Amino acid sequence: MSCPQCQESARFVGYRPKTIISLVGALKLARPYYHCAHCQTGFWPWDVILRLSPERLTPGAQEVTTLLGITNSFGKAANCLLHKTAGLRLSESTVERTTEAAGERLGKRLQQGEVFGPKKPWEWNVDAEGKTCAYVSVDWTGIMMQGPDGAKAEGRMVAVGMVYNPQPRVEKDNDAVCMPCDGARYLSGLYTLEELGLQMRRQAAQVGMDAAQQWISLTDAGSGIEHFMDVNFPLATQIVDFRHASEYAHDLAKLYAAGKEAETLAAVWCHTLKHEGGAALLAIFKELDRAKMTPSACEGHDKVLTYFENHHKRMDYPTYLRKGVTAVPHRLKRLVPRDSRAILGADAAVSLLPFDAIGGSVPFPLMPRSNERSASPSLRPGSNACRLVPCGL
Ligand SMILES: [Zn+2]
Repeated sequence: MSCPQCQESARFVGYRPKTIISLVGALKLARPYYHCAHCQTGFWPWDVILRLSPERLTPGAQEVTTLLGITNSFGKAANCLLHKTAGLRLSESTVERTTEAAGERLGKRLQQGEVFGPKKPWEWNVDAEGKTCAYVSVDWTGIMMQGPDGAKAEGRMVAVGMVYNPQPRVEKDNDAVCMPCDGARYLSGLYTLEELGLQMRRQAAQVGMDAAQQWISLTDAGSGIEHFMDVNFPLATQIVDFRHASEYAHDLAKLYAAGKEAETLAAVWCHTLKHEGGAALLAIFKELDRAKMTPSACEGHDKVLTYFENHHKRMDYPTYLRKGVTAVPHRLKRLVPRDSRAILGADAAVSLLPFDAIGGSVPFPLMPRSNERSASPSLRPGSNACRLVPCGL
């Protein structure tokens, strides 16, 4: 066969043994070894054809390892879950390297404009007026980082985005404000907002967001988010996540009163927020007697006033309730396993969120494609195939 490095003719030397790790356990292979006298390189074409990782994992084993690596910590996946689910015993660093390699491949493919899954419009659910609604959410979450050789490093903020199709609320005043989804696409990574917007628009186009009669953005209205939505999803009605707005009410209640009284106050404020809206609650906050507040309560009061002044127009919860619009996004932060350590400078592992985890229609592209290791050498017909030797493990 020809040498993948210099294209000169390479010589078959013999079979060399190797133990690989597959989903059915360790397998001992004898694969042909070639040597190129011209550039002094030796190679094993079957390692490339089998898409083995440098850790000798088959594509199937890589996929399962990565799925467990991203949904748990690498340590938990290595020490318990992989063995329980697939009978694999891998080290934590193997899980980490495998997960990050898959994340890197995925990140590259996303950057090249791939969107995954068929281009097929979702059947968008309708609100109480019968209008179809497409939802979009963005959030940030902190992840722990690790420097070279396990050195301590500052954590970083990861952007998480979601385009989704929650089911309509059944009753108008249903307490289950967060409805299950009939489809969701997620993205996550150490993106700038600009890059995240580009990626999210691609995913949105893939699921036919344009066809929905209205767009709804559900966020915590954090810094830069309003502008992000204006630029990327300009038709979206922007709504502040009810859960986030009510957290402000809870925090202020704790500063303003103590014990049971604070609890009652928070409950009353949240009821007002839900049934009368952010503007009504802002009026109540403005009436609070600052003379009765401690300095820290005053500080908290200022913070809440600023937040509600800026965003009360996006807290018209009575209207959203009446229209059957969902006001609480799915917990995006939960999608990023907080104890998965990311290596400094690489956003590999955090690119790996199941982007259609709920709908389940898109196979998660964790497996290496045949061209994602070194270029596949051309095997002539009749060249030495790989011999599988059962090793009894
Ligand atoms: Zn060569």
